[in-house]
Amino acid sequence: MNARSIKLDLIENSHAFFVEAAQKAIGAEDDIRHWQFAILNLVQSLELTLKAMLRDIHPILIYENIDNPKHTISITKAIERLADKNIGNILFSKQELEGMSSAIKLRNNITHSDFELSIDHAQAQFLKVLELYIKIQRVHLSRQIEDILPKEVHEELLAIEKSKEALIKNALQRTEEQGIPSNDIWTCPNCLSDTFVVYDGLDTCYACTFKDELQECPSCHELFFEHELEPISQYFDTDLCEGEVILHNTYGYDFYQACNSCSEKIKEDIQEQRDKEHYDFLEREYYMR
Ligand SMILES: [Zn+2]
Ligand SMILES: [Zn+2]
Repeated sequence: MNARSIKLDLIENSHAFFVEAAQKAIGAEDDIRHWQFAILNLVQSLELTLKAMLRDIHPILIYENIDNPKHTISITKAIERLADKNIGNILFSKQELEGMSSAIKLRNNITHSDFELSIDHAQAQFLKVLELYIKIQRVHLSRQIEDILPKEVHEELLAIEKSKEALIKNALQRTEEQGIPSNDIWTCPNCLSDTFVVYDGLDTCYACTFKDELQECPSCHELFFEHELEPISQYFDTDLCEGEVILHNTYGYDFYQACNSCSEKIKEDIQEQRDKEHYDFLEREYYMR
């Protein structure tokens, strides 16, 4: 096996544990005993990712003792090496380091003693590490959450209020890193968070991955979600003839839908044109008499 294929294995393994962790956290909504497995899987996935990052620097670094490469490195040591200026030079924040070490402690407690797990504590720890894990994937491995989680797991995770917060935070950090202007970030019609990116034709929500191609209103030329455009053909003069709509008068409009405010204006305009037509007709009748 060459170094490259081992590296891929570590990351793929890490992602597999992460998916498992997310599924356990979703299951814990119904059965709180799932929390311990959610934590175990999550810390495991973090450990594998940290090892993959070390291996990326040099394959020997995943061994505890590089002079005697027998046992792979412990997670605590892996964090130390990654943070070391001369090795990984990764700037973990104090909060991240604390989050990782308390998650590791919690894992050790779960596996090594008849430890009683407080649910609130488990959930808080889980979310802290979840956030960190997604961030590491995004910043250091260029993997986005939608590359890792299957769509249905992602959706279920969003349904948990607290984990939704973590996913939104991740999305906002992502837009910031990519320098996306705030007027190119809209409210997502799917998850209702302000994380729908219309910049550069992306038209995707960074929190829930909902995609919707935007359409231009033919009247004001602003962009809208497709469901925001309304039909305007009901204002035209039409006839139904053998199942086909015959257009008699479209009052100068050569399109059939528009945004809400344009649609209102078009309705008024057509009404005015009709009134005027009617008035002109009456006037002609009067003078012809
Ligand atoms: Zn969304
Ligand atoms: Zn419009």
